[in-house]
Amino acid sequence: MSKPLLGCVADDFTGGTDLASMLVKGGMRTVQTIGVPEGTVVDADAIVVALKTRTLPVEDAVRESIDALRWLKQIGCKQFYFKYCSTFDSTPTGNIGPVIDAMMEELGTNFTIACPAFPENGRTVYNGYLFVGDVLLSESGMRNHPLTPMTDSNLLRVLAPQTRKNVGLVDRRVVIRGSEAIRAEFDRCKQGGQQIAIVDAIENDDLYRIDAAVAEFPLLTGGSGLAIGLGENFRRAGMLSASTDAATLQATSGRMVLLSGSCSVATNAQVERWLQEHAGFKIDPLAIHQGEDLVSQTVDWVMQHEEPVLVYASAMPEEVGQVQHQLGVEGAGLLVERTLSTIAVRLHERGFNKFIVAGGETSGAVVKALDVKGLRIGESIAPGVPWTQSIDGTPIALALKSGNFGTVGFFEEAMRQCP
Ligand code: ADP
Repeated sequence: MSKPLLGCVADDFTGGTDLASMLVKGGMRTVQTIGVPEGTVVDADAIVVALKTRTLPVEDAVRESIDALRWLKQIGCKQFYFKYCSTFDSTPTGNIGPVIDAMMEELGTNFTIACPAFPENGRTVYNGYLFVGDVLLSESGMRNHPLTPMTDSNLLRVLAPQTRKNVGLVDRRVVIRGSEAIRAEFDRCKQGGQQIAIVDAIENDDLYRIDAAVAEFPLLTGGSGLAIGLGENFRRAGMLSASTDAATLQATSGRMVLLSGSCSVATNAQVERWLQEHAGFKIDPLAIHQGEDLVSQTVDWVMQHEEPVLVYASAMPEEVGQVQHQLGVEGAGLLVERTLSTIAVRLHERGFNKFIVAGGETSGAVVKALDVKGLRIGESIAPGVPWTQSIDGTPIALALKSGNFGTVGFFEEAMRQCP
């Protein structure tokens, strides 16, 4: 049984899984909890507490983040990490700045970094400006995000109004010179009265250089990319053994089913590909609304098949539009989420322990319905989408995919790689 070294607070669920996958890749055995667990003892090198605080009112986001941080302190973590989106999703009033301030105060530290860069995924920071692929953040699709539109790419200007701290910059000319130069620049920032440094990174090696410079920091903040070298930091300090196979999950027994409530372009293509060679059952939200018992029908249909099958509500935009027109956007969403998660519970009662789920909200609903409190993170099926296993009770294996992730053959790949 190992004591956790790294304690992370993630501002949304799939972002938490993304970070957890990165930590596993770096050789840290990682468990992601859904919210703050009640007194659970967790055997892992890193814990990621997944919250849903990105767009909450500031006070709620701060309170929930600090509750999570206190729990991570209490279970003995040595270093702490606040994970937000690599596109720095936030509003002018928060929540990234206020949560960083509160976490710094809780940990009694007067310096941290903010580094959303993840070059491998096309998120780079140069002279404090955040790029998405080849374009500035403010020229990317994030400009029109319904909840957190990002119209300024300069992270110093974005963060300054959100925080009571002074924000500085460690630019790429320093980062390229390695960890000693970066540390010296941190000292210069501190002498200049700055408490948060935005740090440039345009390639993965920059992140390793930065990580080597922050090994002693109580608090790190960033996207999932910044976590790339943290396992190495702990190994260098003799706190983590080199031999652990961080992604190993127990073998899971029981049957498998695939559930899809995502209507994203990628998922629709994945559903279509699956149906070319495997069986699927389509759920019609309007039929449920009219009182048809689709849950029982679907469960009976699934039980008639020996091979894994797909149950899906995924549909093309026009069809989704018609459903939403009749039931409302939220009403339609909740109805489908409730139906798919009830099907998951019924199948679980009938011996299904392996679930491949497409859709961020859909995954959240299924995990909640199955009463899963935490997930051990295994091997990645696609970037940011690992196989996971519930930590309490008889293990349930879950592959949770948010909409646009995965290649067209994702469902089949996930099925083949199931622990
Ligand atoms: P993604 O990760 O692709 O955004 P989500 O599960 O987060 O997927 O969101 C998709 C939403 O669309 C869910 O609330 C789901 O219940 C809803 N939905 C799924 N199928 C339909 C449909 N046929 N009509 C209307 N809404 C649907």
